[in-house]
Amino acid sequence: MNYNKKSIEDIDVSGKRVLCRCDFNVPTKDGKITSDKRIVAAMPTIEYLVNHGAKVILCSHMGKPKGEWKSELSLKVVAQRISELLGKEVIMAADVAGEDAQAKAAALKDGDVMLLENTRFEKGETKNDAELSKKFASLADIFVNDAFGTAHRAHSSTAGVADYLPAVSGYLVQKEVSIMGKALADPERPFVAILGGAKVSDKLNVINNLLEKVDTLIIGGGMAYTFLAAKGYSVGTSLLDNEKIDYCKEMMAKAQQRGTQLLLPIDTVVAPAFPSPIDAPIEVETVSADAIPADKMGLDIGEKTRELFADAVKNAKTVVWNGPMGVFENPVLAKGTIAVAQALADSSAVTIVGGGDSAAACEQLGFADQITHISTGGGASLEFLEGLELPGIACLQDK
Ligand code: ADP
Ligand code: MG
Repeated sequence: MNYNKKSIEDIDVSGKRVLCRCDFNVPTKDGKITSDKRIVAAMPTIEYLVNHGAKVILCSHMGKPKGEWKSELSLKVVAQRISELLGKEVIMAADVAGEDAQAKAAALKDGDVMLLENTRFEKGETKNDAELSKKFASLADIFVNDAFGTAHRAHSSTAGVADYLPAVSGYLVQKEVSIMGKALADPERPFVAILGGAKVSDKLNVINNLLEKVDTLIIGGGMAYTFLAAKGYSVGTSLLDNEKIDYCKEMMAKAQQRGTQLLLPIDTVVAPAFPSPIDAPIEVETVSADAIPADKMGLDIGEKTRELFADAVKNAKTVVWNGPMGVFENPVLAKGTIAVAQALADSSAVTIVGGGDSAAACEQLGFADQITHISTGGGASLEFLEGLELPGIACLQDK
């Protein structure tokens, strides 16, 4: 995939109707937005368009209405918040791309901003229905994609509409693509990737691609135990994907063939059971990775592993991290994740964090502002690392 894509700065937007796909999928409670982070993040693109005299038509999905009109998932609250941040009116359409949206889009003046209703109120959206894509396209002259979180989905408002309009990236997508694209296509070396987390089967596929790019691959978190099992160790009651043991063996052989360093935990923090509730006090002990008792569950990397992993990051010039090293939601089991976050924070390398929980961990633990780039898309960043083509990015014009 070509990562060198045109952005809003490479196209003349003044006086043009610009349909801008954003990620306004914000959490709400009792009709109020509980975190406006995603709206705030979208502001630079919106402000650029307004300041350059575009007629701005914003759109996004929120939640999973599955093609039904659900008033609790209306984007009206989002329009209100954008309006507060922008200090000017945001016109709310009464539908997605229907009569009201068409009329309001046609009446926009230069610098005006409107917001369409939740794109997933339309059944065609997630099916990438061509009729809906054409309706979106008929509202505008230019399409801007600024929603990285849905870039791995081929939906009408994320990719389909680009069949009918010139398409470029907004600032958020541009940043994701330029930083992660460079890391994958032309990284400064040594290049170290760290994988962890609980979605073992999902993430195991990333390993195959990363092994061809990195100098060192570090594996911790829940996914490490399938590797330990592949080494012939017993892993007690730890998270294990039995069907992927052979795959892990293949990956270890591949690393050896290529001369890529593959680091696995050498010790692990274990407990009799997963903490419940997740942050409940818990009694733990540290055991060697090849000596996990049959009735114990591995829930974090041990102290020796923390040092080993932090050491491996020290001389790196590029570091990509996806997935916590342990059950970081529990303070007793957060040490491995803290050690890795600290190693990234201390590093002068380009540091990139992807994955919803890893990003949350960096923020909760106070390391976020010491990381070069925290990706806004969990699934999308993972597919990026997997080397897959992201429809919402592939559809944009090459520079
Ligand atoms: P991300 O959202 O960053 O992609 P995942 O969703 O794959 O990461 O995994 C995050 C979850 O993994 C966290 O909730 C954490 O508690 C859990 N986790 C990490 N290590 C373990 C482990 N050893 N056993 C069980 N769960 C784990
Ligand atoms: Mg997650």
